[in-house]
Parts: sequence; structure tokens; C-alpha cells
Amino acid sequence: MERKEDINQLLDIPFAKRTYLYNSNSKLFIRILLISPFLLLLFSFAGLRLIRDSKIVSSRFLDIKIDSKDGQRLLGHLPYPEISKDKLVFIEPNIKVHIDMSESLLKMREAAKRDGVYLVFLSGYRSTNLQKDIFYSLKSIRNQIASERARVSAPPGYSEHSTGFAIDIGDYMQRETDFEVEFEDTEAFKWLQRHAAKYHFKLSFNRNNKYIDYEPWHWRYEGSVEALKIFENSNRKSN
Ligand SMILES: [Zn+2]
Repeated sequence: MERKEDINQLLDIPFAKRTYLYNSNSKLFIRILLISPFLLLLFSFAGLRLIRDSKIVSSRFLDIKIDSKDGQRLLGHLPYPEISKDKLVFIEPNIKVHIDMSESLLKMREAAKRDGVYLVFLSGYRSTNLQKDIFYSLKSIRNQIASERARVSAPPGYSEHSTGFAIDIGDYMQRETDFEVEFEDTEAFKWLQRHAAKYHFKLSFNRNNKYIDYEPWHWRYEGSVEALKIFENSNRKSN
């Protein structure tokens, strides 16, 4: 008998232990059950954040795709066709522009003169070959890589000047500001800001342009259907 009790005792202990362990497990289980809604909430919140963040990343990739496909930009510049020679006229002994904009441009200069402001035409139509010389020679003279140069000069085939509808303007009284950002402080620029739209001229590269540096001297003509078509993509993409 004594021996049997001993056996019972031996059996009882593990059984009691098992019961205790079982009770402890169920308490833990109940605890987990109680906090599970909070855990679920926490995980959903983290999950939503992850989805939102990945959406931002994918939309960024999408923007880049749209830029390269729709804009066809090269170093930030849009491609432009070269105007045929028979549509060009001289407005100065060395400056040609598109015949459709010449009259409006000369009228604008006359109107400025009446207000005591003297506009100087610096550059009009430029052939793709000339643009090639400008882009590559200035790039090497100034020891710039293509992407640096492109902020201030268009690669050949990508200049508004090749359309004949672009004109660089200076102030006769302040020639030192030619092709400089300081041109914006001249009377000529202030006059243009007030009146150029009347003559269908628009500043091409304003301060907000993310690809090309600000060029207060560079204006383009948008007073004909042909010009509007040429600059449609730029007007849609810029700003
Ligand atoms: Zn220009």
C-alpha cells in the first residue's frame, strides 16, 4: 500500500503541474484574446501607412515616365522643328524671325519707344547648326558638362529659336545686362512685363521653371495658330 501511495503521489504531481500549466496558458490566451482588437488596429494602421507610402513611390515613378514619354525632353528642353527658310524675314541686318511674328514684334518696339523705352533685338532665328556650335563651343569654353550647359542653353534641335518664334531682347540704355538675369531690373523688362502680352509675347523660362534657368530676356510669340501648336506641349508641361 505504501508503495501504491508513493506511485499516486508521483503521478499526482505531474498532473497538478499540468493543470497549473493549463490554467496559466488559458489566462495567457484570454489576455491575447482581449488585446487582439488593439493589435489588429495597430497592424492595420501600419499596413495602411505602408500602402500609402508605396503609392507615393509608384506615383513618383509614374511622373518620370510621363515626363520622358509625353514631354520627350532632353536635359529639360523640349524638341522643336526648324522653320523653313522661306518663312523667315530680316528685322535687323543680322536678325531673322518668322514672318508671322515680325510685324507684331516691330510694333511692340515702336510702342516701347513712344514710352521712352528702347528695346534691342539680340537674337532671333537660329539654325540647328548654329545652335550646335553655340551649345558645344560654350560648353567646352566654360568647361561645363552637357547637363550644366543645358540649364542656360538648349541642345541643337531643342531650341525655341529654331522655330523663328523666339526673340532675345535687351535694353539699349543698359547693354551690360544683355543675356543677364539683371535684365529684369531694366526699364525694358518692366515695360515688357506690362505690355508684351498685348503683342502676343510671353516669357518662356520664368523663375518657376524646374528645368531651365530664368531668362528674362527670352520671349516667344504665341499670336498665330502655328506658334500656338508649336508651343502647346511647353504650355501644358511648364509651371
Ligand atoms: Zn533665347
